Amino acid sequence: MPRTLITGGAGFLGSHLCDYLLDKGHEVICMDNLITGNTKNIAHIKNQKFEFIHHDVTNYIVIDGPLDYILHFASPASPIDYLELPIQTLKVGSLGTHKALGLAKAKGATFLLASTSEVYGDPQVHPQKEEYWGNVNPVGPRGVYDEAKRFAEAITMAYHRYHGVNTKIVRIFNTYGPRMRLEDGRAIPNFLRQALKGEDITVYGDGSQTRSFCFCSDLVEGICRLLMSDENDPTNIGNPRELTILEMAEKILKETGSSSKIIYEDLPKDDPKIRQPDITKAKAVLKWEPVVSLDDGLTETIKYFKETLSL
Ligand code: UDP
Repeated sequence: MPRTLITGGAGFLGSHLCDYLLDKGHEVICMDNLITGNTKNIAHIKNQKFEFIHHDVTNYIVIDGPLDYILHFASPASPIDYLELPIQTLKVGSLGTHKALGLAKAKGATFLLASTSEVYGDPQVHPQKEEYWGNVNPVGPRGVYDEAKRFAEAITMAYHRYHGVNTKIVRIFNTYGPRMRLEDGRAIPNFLRQALKGEDITVYGDGSQTRSFCFCSDLVEGICRLLMSDENDPTNIGNPRELTILEMAEKILKETGSSSKIIYEDLPKDDPKIRQPDITKAKAVLKWEPVVSLDDGLTETIKYFKETLSL
């Protein structure tokens, strides 16, 4: 039975990965310092093969016994979080990735880095292919996340090339679903919370910027296929269905039946104008593509938000 460490395992995506891999028969060690993760995301797990360790991965990681896989998901990941936690974001992407890679090398484990479409910055190529190097402002407010992840990719490739560690890099595009924090500041949780509570929907700028949203179960399936593949170069995983943020706000109003009104606020600095994954590679190499429609994904997410808000 494989033994797997998931850093950031009590976060939104980390906890879905815990569920998925336990279901596949893995023994799962979930590590989190809980600055943005929450034990309520893993509270439902009763499996004997599951263990939670409260630890900050920027410090030396000690795991007794063998490890077959390490999925490095620890990091603040929403713009609000990394603006509030800039140093922690830089440290977990750099020092934390170094520690996790060192552990992978020592254990002979396969290592998967959770990277991000933010490595493409405000892209000048559309849709974004893995070969595109990006357009990132290193000293802007988002630079702490973007550059930390770019460094994380570089050190991951160095451990692969120099130390022969079997590494994978997934570039995750916007994802949504149950267990997103209601207050994490991202578009879908903000719009859903606002719509369900009858508050104004805050669209930043004129709402013409685009994003492409992937439901969490599709993303987890893609990541786990990448983990088990022979691919070592970065791979985009996301849903290419692109829409403007205004269209998303309107869609959420309709799906929730809310009478909230849309208001316009300032666009945050360096907010990417367009974003859409080119998933040609994932389709060819992993035989993967998203299968959950936006309607179905939103229905499940709305259900979770209603339960969490006790509506
Ligand atoms: N956004 C918005 N209103 C909100 C939150 C976000 O208009 O209340 C916009 C944000 O400026 C960005 C897009 O929605 O253009 C997606 O933002 P998110 O924080 O979800 O993720 P990003 O893709 O920017 O990392």
